[in-house]
Amino acid sequence: MPVQAPQWTEFLLCPICTQTFEETVRRPISLGCGHTVCKMCLNKLHRKACPFDQTAISTDIEQLPVNTALLQLVGGQVPKVQPVALITSPEDSQHYEEARQCVEELALYLKPLSNTRGVGLSSTARAC
Ligand SMILES: [Zn+2]
Ligand SMILES: [Zn+2]
Repeated sequence: MPVQAPQWTEFLLCPICTQTFEETVRRPISLGCGHTVCKMCLNKLHRKACPFDQTAISTDIEQLPVNTALLQLVGGQVPKVQPVALITSPEDSQHYEEARQCVEELALYLKPLSNTRGVGLSSTARAC
């Protein structure tokens, strides 16, 4: 039985306020647990923890990484600023850039396919 996949557009909405992410006040912020919420909701949290699984947010909100892949999908300008808290050396920075580009390319690559259900991606996935 194929699992009914959610429409990809659902991923472009903040799960808390159900507004589309955008590049200014509703930037998609990745939490350490893997959830992504918009910055506006993040700032409104009463306690610094993921609203879905209660994972504590130990990093300052300003230092949390923006989900740039998501931001690209909603047509936002991807900020070139890096999450400085995570990067300490030029080498790290380079690895970060490579990984980021990979994820962004993958997101854009998958976008046109995502309305097709049950497509095996193993043969088409690009090696990063
Ligand atoms: Zn929100
Ligand atoms: Zn979470």
